[in-house]
Amino acid sequence: ATPMSIMTATGRGAMAGVLIKNAEALERFAKVDMLIVDKTGTLTVGKPELTAVLPADGFDEDSVLMLAASLERGSEHPLADAIVNTAKARNATMEDAVDFEAITGKGVRGKVAGKDVALGNAKLMDDMGVNAGALSADADSRRDNGETVMFIVVDGKAAGLVCVADPVKETTAEALKALHKVGLKVIMATGDNARTAKAVAARLGIDDIRADVLPENKAALVKELQEKGHRVAMAGDGVNDAPALAQADVGIAMGTGADVAIESAGFTLVKGDLLGIVKARKLAVATMRNIK
Ligand code: ADP
Ligand code: MG
Repeated sequence: ATPMSIMTATGRGAMAGVLIKNAEALERFAKVDMLIVDKTGTLTVGKPELTAVLPADGFDEDSVLMLAASLERGSEHPLADAIVNTAKARNATMEDAVDFEAITGKGVRGKVAGKDVALGNAKLMDDMGVNAGALSADADSRRDNGETVMFIVVDGKAAGLVCVADPVKETTAEALKALHKVGLKVIMATGDNARTAKAVAARLGIDDIRADVLPENKAALVKELQEKGHRVAMAGDGVNDAPALAQADVGIAMGTGADVAIESAGFTLVKGDLLGIVKARKLAVATMRNIK
């Protein structure tokens, strides 16, 4: 494309809250046929709120919340904020956790008040060899409602569920519809559970879902689709999305997300509004048309 047409597109993008890094990003976006979107913080607002604490038999809600919040004080994950904020609002006492460890894509663990505590997804439970038992049915019905479910383990026993919900951004549905119209296939990739992912995707008309994706596997998914001959755009907000954003033909970062995601991307949506992807695609196509 000519420098003039690139400048025009860059200016128009900026007015609409879409920052375009360079001409190459714009040129490539015109050829993209597939868009991979991260769920949390990209399709959704990224500010999950606690919906329920469900203790297992022999445990009570207050102590489950206290243990979960004490542990999550050491985590920077958005799920951690939801738990800590609720504990604070309920004036729950929090203890200092020792030997704290964050397990990427799975959860957190540490010692709280002399107990071994872990909080995370089903993979973490599997790794620890802990059976969810009677909690599984509740977990599934919460997931079918689009909620994210975390299991808490205390001294090797499943002690309860901590459930959160993260609302879909206001413009997400409209943006996805428009992206379909311009011929893009949309795939959701998430570290979350398949049932939760499916419930959220169903409301949005998403074509395909890859759930339980470990952070390091998001980039591998992009590569897999490229090897099948697709030109792939990837939209994400997290540190864990950065390798996939870099691997994609076109990376699209949320301006509300991590700096490393923004650095890895060719486009940044200033306010994280996915209608910006539609705008970017239209600018890309218009720019390429002008040079023919
Ligand atoms: P996403 O791709 O949805 O942003 P992540 O890869 O960060 O998710 O995490 C995947 C899953 O691992 C989460 O849905 C959650 O169940 C679990 N997990 C990750 N970090 C934490 C944490 N700090 N506390 C509890 N669970 C966590
Ligand atoms: Mg995310």
